[in-house]
Amino acid sequence: MNDRRISVVIPSYNEAESLEQLHAELDEVIQVQGLGLAEFFFIDDGSQDGTWRKIEELAGRDPRVRGIRFRRNFGKAAALSAGFGEVSGEVVFTLDADLQDNPAEIPKFLSKLDEGYDVVSGWKRRRHDPWHKVGPSRIFNRIVSAVSGCSLHDHNCGFKAYRREVLGEVDLYGELHRFIPVLAHSKGYRVGEVVVNHRARRFGRSKYGFSRFLKGLLDILSVQFLARFGQRPLHLLGSIGLFFLFLGTLGLGYLTYLWLTDQGPIGTRPLLPYSATLLGLGTQLIGFGVLAELITSYHIKSVKTYSIADRVGSMNSR
Ligand code: UDP
Ligand code: MG
Repeated sequence: MNDRRISVVIPSYNEAESLEQLHAELDEVIQVQGLGLAEFFFIDDGSQDGTWRKIEELAGRDPRVRGIRFRRNFGKAAALSAGFGEVSGEVVFTLDADLQDNPAEIPKFLSKLDEGYDVVSGWKRRRHDPWHKVGPSRIFNRIVSAVSGCSLHDHNCGFKAYRREVLGEVDLYGELHRFIPVLAHSKGYRVGEVVVNHRARRFGRSKYGFSRFLKGLLDILSVQFLARFGQRPLHLLGSIGLFFLFLGTLGLGYLTYLWLTDQGPIGTRPLLPYSATLLGLGTQLIGFGVLAELITSYHIKSVKTYSIADRVGSMNSR
């Protein structure tokens, strides 16, 4: 069970003081658990402190350490993507660099993966963060779970484990890193969670504030849209457009009837501008839908629209 290779991806932005201890803790869990094959990717996301020097020093001492340095700060999702592009392990971990996640809990994730899960997310049940982070985070997690159907208590947790093939199927851009489980869930992968022990930040400071929750809510909108209508935008825009057209036609039809049967003037009825506006909006929405469909059709060949669990028998393509 313990002979699989694990890769750990650690996005690090101004975390020089934490890296030494983090490396020691990673080393310890690998040794104690007899995990053997491991690689640690430290991604320096444009730090201004001594983070890169520290990574170089660790890599000089330990051949399992790999480092990637960005030219400037590109954000956590970019850092994770860069790491995912290089990993060779069958299981890939992501872990914050600030010592808030405890590497000693890696085995817990591995046994959860052994139960048949493809993605395992950490759940900081008792958080050691200020209240103004914990409160909004609760609401955020409820909303994301309800909207996406992927129920997790802690979508934001940086400590997660993936089977590597999952990572090949999700596109990371913007700040979508927190929604890899949601994206994986939408492709039919099994997503589970384990409770992790959260530690207070000892060095440096947090890079995120309240605005992350607002952005996160917008992100979940785009994730849901992409997962459900990314390949068929007309289905969404067109349905709303048709509904508007229907209501508008109904209103105008009624007014026409009144006019034909001489039941008073219709030019002053509020129903007239409402119905006309609905017709206009409906037509526009359908137009936008067709345009969106056109754009999608250009790049759709390069996008995989399905996810295969298994194969049997010989195949032509491989
Ligand atoms: N991080 C990063 N690039 C950024 C912001 C953060 O690589 O632009 C890293 C940071 O070094 C840490 C992790 O992402 O390892 C989580 O950030 P932080 O601890 O500030 O978030 P919090 O735990 O406060 O939510
Ligand atoms: Mg942190």
